Amino acid sequence: MDANDPLPPSRAGSLPLIASELAFDFVNSVADRGGSQHAEYLHNGSDIVLWAHLAKLLSDTDRDAALAMVAADEVLASRLLSEAHALRETIYEIGAALARRDMPREEDRAALTAAHAHCLSRARLSTSGGGFAWTWDPHTALVEAVLGPIALSALTVMTQQDLARVKRCEGDHCGWLMFDTTKNRRRRWCEMEVCGNRAKMRAFRARKFEAS
Ligand SMILES: [Zn+2]
Repeated sequence: MDANDPLPPSRAGSLPLIASELAFDFVNSVADRGGSQHAEYLHNGSDIVLWAHLAKLLSDTDRDAALAMVAADEVLASRLLSEAHALRETIYEIGAALARRDMPREEDRAALTAAHAHCLSRARLSTSGGGFAWTWDPHTALVEAVLGPIALSALTVMTQQDLARVKRCEGDHCGWLMFDTTKNRRRRWCEMEVCGNRAKMRAFRARKFEAS
């Protein structure tokens, strides 16, 4: 690619959100982690803002303001990117361990706790639909406004949910995490149309091969 070519459009704002849990949707901004088809979808501070808007963590107006903020402030943009990647990989390690029915490592649990504690230090407990919710002002605490709800989602799964429902897609070159909300707990794929059908085709071909 020529250095003057425009960058390809970012996929950050249009990734599928299929995990049924915010924290795992965020983990799924990488495909085939560490594998031969490893793909990273969040490359810079703007990508993080676009994803946060996709996941409804930022309103349209907040997204536009945040894009202007990261364009004008390199330090903020690189802090947003590096802290987002760090939290994402921590949640991935925890979620992948839970999906294997292993104990998440102490260092990952400590990193998640630290990220949560830091984000809460910038939060307000606001009224929300008859109750209360942590809220952040993206204009004064952009990094925390994006990462606070994600850390909280991961902690809520760990402390209040049925951990047997934490799963990893069985598709080749996928590895996406999800929270299985189906009644019979038999979800195996991130998206049936993507990994499920590919696996079915493979099984079909294998059967045909055996039969021939
Ligand atoms: Zn998959």
